[in-house]
Amino acid sequence: MELKYKRVLLKISGEALAGERKMGIDYDIVTDICKNIKTCVEMGAQIAIVVGGGNFWRGRSSGEMERTRADHMGMLATVINALAVADALEQLGVPVRVQTALPMQQVAEPYIRNKAVRHLEKGRVVILACGTGNPYFSTDTAASLRAAEINAEIIFKATMVDGVYDKDPKKFGDAVRYDKVSFTKVLTDSLGVMDSTAASLCKDNDLPILLFDLSDPHNIVKAMCGEQVGTIVIE
Ligand code: UDP
Repeated sequence: MELKYKRVLLKISGEALAGERKMGIDYDIVTDICKNIKTCVEMGAQIAIVVGGGNFWRGRSSGEMERTRADHMGMLATVINALAVADALEQLGVPVRVQTALPMQQVAEPYIRNKAVRHLEKGRVVILACGTGNPYFSTDTAASLRAAEINAEIIFKATMVDGVYDKDPKKFGDAVRYDKVSFTKVLTDSLGVMDSTAASLCKDNDLPILLFDLSDPHNIVKAMCGEQVGTIVIE
């Protein structure tokens, strides 16, 4: 198998790390995901990972709480996930660095674009935590922003859904999955793939997003080699 992409930003949702329990971290699942990341790294792929935090906390679902505070909690949740993924990769012998958008230097490096790129060039996986470092944003938007900054060719958005459908597949038995769909359609039809800030940033910077299901972690390797998985959002 040969790589189709050299430098990829992999967005892993918090939910994908939680498995059946939907909350917290299922370490067996994390290890499975990391084994596939290792395969890609050994093939020469440069991988930066943005982790979500929804398996612990989501600012927008925090009810009465002041939103900025709730989002701070969400960003801290992404750090827990980043450290878990880093640990699993290290245990598999994959060199890794964690960088955080909010400085916490006893725990991880601060996010510095040039340093992140240098790590990638040296074959290290870079895990980016705390999203953008700002409230009211999502880790999807962080993935778009960081992908643009580090000149990734594509974003892999790995979640628990296997692509983009014309309507909700849970409600409609005849829902059809797209292999390919445009950002304009995603935005105008509110296809619920990602938030509009993240989608606009990708659209404006010509960054395609491939959405696929992480319940089969081997999809990461397949996607990296250009096999048909999920849905690509492009142009
Ligand atoms: N968050 C934030 N700013 C960011 C990224 C994330 O405030 O730039 C907070 C926000 O509260 C969000 C939480 O972190 O709900 C977890 O991120 P997200 O919901 O994107 O995680 P996912 O759904 O991908 O697991």
